[in-house]
Amino acid sequence: MADNIFTKIIDKEIPASIVYEDDEFLAFLDIMPFEKGHTLVIPKEGVETIMDMGEEHYLRMQKVVLKIAKHYRKTLGCSVNIWSNNGGAAEQLVPHVHFHIIPRFNCDKKYDKLEDRESYLGNEMELYRKRLKL
Ligand code: 5GP
Repeated sequence: MADNIFTKIIDKEIPASIVYEDDEFLAFLDIMPFEKGHTLVIPKEGVETIMDMGEEHYLRMQKVVLKIAKHYRKTLGCSVNIWSNNGGAAEQLVPHVHFHIIPRFNCDKKYDKLEDRESYLGNEMELYRKRLKL
């Protein structure tokens, strides 16, 4: 699979605010979060969509997603949205499997447009990384 922004994060060629890492998976803060703490979980193996993953690999990834979601509820007192876009028509922008984990505090907020994204100010992203790190 061709290099993309996530393979560069895996190879530590570009920085990311990593909150979880093991031999197979990595989780880091989304740079344009829908909510602060918005996290992406990715496999280190280069697979484009979940449909390209083996079942066991996929299930091991879901264990990581579950661990992080439970940790965020405990740490932030939030609800959580979990989703994954797979394929261009499903609005997948980065061609490397990823699950979004989004802390939610307000069910009225909509996540349709770029303007719906939040911004970290100053060292806020690093503070979130430290707070959410597993
Ligand atoms: P998709 O639309 O493919 O499901 O989501 C891709 C996500 O990757 C977006 O939410 C976007 O903000 C995030 N993203 C894109 N480039 C980078 C980057 O360089 N660093 C980080 N941390 N997130 C990124």
